[in-house]
Amino acid sequence: MIRVGIGNDFHRLVEGRPLILGGVHVEFERGCDGHSDGDALTHALTDAILGALSEGDIGVHFPDTETQWKDADSMQMLARVVWLAHERGYNIGNADATIIIERPKLREHIEAMRDNLARVMNSEKSCISVKAKTNEGLDAVGRGEAVSAQAVVLLEQITT
Ligand SMILES: [Zn+2]
Repeated sequence: MIRVGIGNDFHRLVEGRPLILGGVHVEFERGCDGHSDGDALTHALTDAILGALSEGDIGVHFPDTETQWKDADSMQMLARVVWLAHERGYNIGNADATIIIERPKLREHIEAMRDNLARVMNSEKSCISVKAKTNEGLDAVGRGEAVSAQAVVLLEQITT
């Protein structure tokens, strides 16, 4: 049995916050606003896993009303839902994600993101794809006011 899930996330970029994507601190003059560390890529992947499990969404599992998740390390949230998937009898088959951000260029950070995500998702790096693109100057992302991320994840039933 295989199950597929989709995730989407969007964060405002503001001054005075670190830019963290896929657990990598990217040097930039602005970072993601949000209750947790604002890691849009990791949030999209977390939501995709929850979606594949039909387990609601990130807001249900990590409510922003709980101080526990204020400035939280989003990789810990991802680890929690990977654990939940294992509990339900599933491993990560593969994941594919796209970050959409106008600046900075993320190319040099992609491999570190894939390393981080593969480790937390108990997966081979070759099964974790991260891509980055701009929005060609259009809308809030194109004006550099926001970052968005999209992800799909395939879960495979653990065979015993
Ligand atoms: Zn988010």
